[in-house]
Amino acid sequence: MLKSYRGKLLKVNLTTHEISTEPLNEDIAKNFLGGAGYACRYLYDLIDKKTDPLSPENILMIMTGPLMGTFAPNTGRWVVCSKSPYTGIWGESNCGSWFGPEIKKAGYDGLIVVGASEKPVYLEIKDENVKLKDAEFLWGKGTKYTTEKLKDLFGDDKAIVACIGPAGENLVKYANIVSEERAAGRTGMGAILGSKKLKAIIVKGSNIKLEVADQTKFKEANKIARDNVKSSFGTQVLGSLGTSGALDMYNMTGELPIKYFTESQWDRAFNISGATMAETILVENRFCNSCVIGCGRRIDIKEGKYRTEGVIEGPEYETIVSYGSLLMNDNLESIAYMNTICFDYGIDTISSGGTISCLTHHYTLGNINSEDIDGLKPEWGNIEIAEQILKKIVYREGIGDLLAEGSDALGKEFKIPQDEIATVVGLEVTYHEPRANFGMAIAYGIGGAYRGPSHNQCDPYFTLVGVPLDEIGMKNIDRYNDDEEMAEYCAIDMDYRALYSSMIMCSFCNPLPSQNAALIEYATGLKFGLEEIKLYGERILNMKRLFNLKMGLTAKDDRLPKILLRPHKKGGSAGKTPNFEKLKNLFYKYKEWHPETGKPSETKLKQLGLDKL
Ligand code: SF4
Repeated sequence: MLKSYRGKLLKVNLTTHEISTEPLNEDIAKNFLGGAGYACRYLYDLIDKKTDPLSPENILMIMTGPLMGTFAPNTGRWVVCSKSPYTGIWGESNCGSWFGPEIKKAGYDGLIVVGASEKPVYLEIKDENVKLKDAEFLWGKGTKYTTEKLKDLFGDDKAIVACIGPAGENLVKYANIVSEERAAGRTGMGAILGSKKLKAIIVKGSNIKLEVADQTKFKEANKIARDNVKSSFGTQVLGSLGTSGALDMYNMTGELPIKYFTESQWDRAFNISGATMAETILVENRFCNSCVIGCGRRIDIKEGKYRTEGVIEGPEYETIVSYGSLLMNDNLESIAYMNTICFDYGIDTISSGGTISCLTHHYTLGNINSEDIDGLKPEWGNIEIAEQILKKIVYREGIGDLLAEGSDALGKEFKIPQDEIATVVGLEVTYHEPRANFGMAIAYGIGGAYRGPSHNQCDPYFTLVGVPLDEIGMKNIDRYNDDEEMAEYCAIDMDYRALYSSMIMCSFCNPLPSQNAALIEYATGLKFGLEEIKLYGERILNMKRLFNLKMGLTAKDDRLPKILLRPHKKGGSAGKTPNFEKLKNLFYKYKEWHPETGKPSETKLKQLGLDKL
């Protein structure tokens, strides 16, 4: 019997309103741990190419990890997984807050949501006392109101809520799930809850005891890992300046996306940096459950147009780019405001800002006319127009109905070549320029290995600035390397982050891999060393790849649009561009994936124990 799990998952059938539990599948847990790996293996058998992601047939899972509740560093995040309505492939989004730990305290390793309700409902979980309740009165409301109202009705402020806003209800393809001013932002998981008419989940658990396999050794390993992370340089930067702490540096190196990826240096970038936030509106750090870093920003804007009602969650780097440099807006307070309304609407800041900026770019180039977009005249730096467009998207009004389908749909409608839209597998790329760090070309272009382009599931932009991963073969290399070394580096990075998505550890938290192995072994009782770190990571990543291939993905989908490959004329990365096709071939070779089909070889699948799939 594995330790550090609760041993059961809560299953909710929204069609029949039946609530049940099912035992944790020990075989899956032994091979995939928990989190996204567990969900992917579980859902692989139940979802296929024909499954409409917004139909009752799609299944959504909310998962915790085996280390959650042990107080291992940065293991309090949770993950939501399903077939994405946005990309049609593996959907996965990871979130902070305390929702996951509360599910585990209530006695579950995860939730399985199937079917669809006729009327809006919310789920109330109080340990084994679980009820579906009418949510008609919440339908149409923002996430802030929904959260406060549900806590009020529940009668305990410490109960934790995860919910959708109007964007999820209106099936905006990149709607998110919001929990306590944090969001599971990517791949449209909020639209799935909207299609199932599940407005919210409120949970309160009472059991904080969790049995680990070896308490003494775990305690010791935990102290070593926590101390190691606390003392690292990355932790100091993230703790004091937040995720946008390196924004000024990115502006110098060409890593900061500007004006929809068409420029690489901006003289106003400092106005939106982590340092500026720290000097102006920052009040304190915010920590997810069990975190030793605290990259979250709590801010207060005391006066002016964007005055806040007290202390609120500040924007993270990705939102600062999305509604800042990508749109040429250098007003940090307005970005904080857009962040807050995106939370309340329940919409992903990366995809919404990316889509608005894509529209602005092609409008200013003359590819789209004002009369085609409800008379709007998007312009660089004009955040008021961006706000109008955002509202139209959330309520699917006028052009918003098209934009709610994302950048690719916009391109298709206006016959804009796919190469001029910054997406891969239909998902907007995130905000670390591949021209300034060639590894990001793999992270984005081969996003079909996981949930589409991601800076968390393959993060050479971060690891190459000094994360100690030599133990698993990730030796520091030049950021402009587009040879075997980079392909191999990213392949190992991807596997390691796939393991992170299952053990669930925040990717900013990097004890030595051997220290992570010790945490897993002493918590679960599974034999875990460096060999297992690599084996499990590779297995989990290939599992996601198999899911995507089953959904119809092919090697052709592993591509990067030209808009991300044209060398910049100025800035820190002037004249540089990765040879993506070369990197892709080298990556496939290292991974033993077929160059045309993109499938893992039989030998590889056998080695990973996935050959029966
Ligand atoms: S580093 Fe930031 S995102 Fe990661 S667990 Fe801590 S607060 Fe959450």
